[in-house]
Amino acid sequence: MPSQPDDCLFCSILREGSYVRKEKGFVAIKDINPQAAVHLLVIPERHVDSFREVGEFPAREAKRMLEFVADTAREAGLTDYRVQVNVGPSAGQTVFHLHWHILGSGPQHADAQAHAETAVVEL
Ligand code: 5GP
Ligand code: ZN
Repeated sequence: MPSQPDDCLFCSILREGSYVRKEKGFVAIKDINPQAAVHLLVIPERHVDSFREVGEFPAREAKRMLEFVADTAREAGLTDYRVQVNVGPSAGQTVFHLHWHILGSGPQHADAQAHAETAVVEL
């Protein structure tokens, strides 16, 4: 695993291992202060301060990160949703470890509730 700064909140969360979904190199957690019915954060284990440094990810890892965002939204039962990355304090970034917000109005497909339930089970 890439090095994890001691003073980074999301590196600490990654070390604690409390997440709703995990794949090699990435986790998804529920936002502590949700701004939508479904508000998840996708956090890569590789610490970079912001999206500005996304070029530090090897190409395959960057692609897998995007797929992890899409798969997390799908498994949360979302078909329509927003993906948001705040870059820099004046754009709303408060935690300086790259992360992707997934914001949805709630599970939308037929067996959505079942998916919503399974989405919180650690993989
Ligand atoms: P940012 O403002 O940097 O784009 O997003 C940081 C997000 O992290 C915010 O939406 C905030 O609510 C969330 N957050 C801050 N501290 C914690 C925490 O300890 N646990 C979780 N799950 N989310 C957090
Ligand atoms: Zn970090």
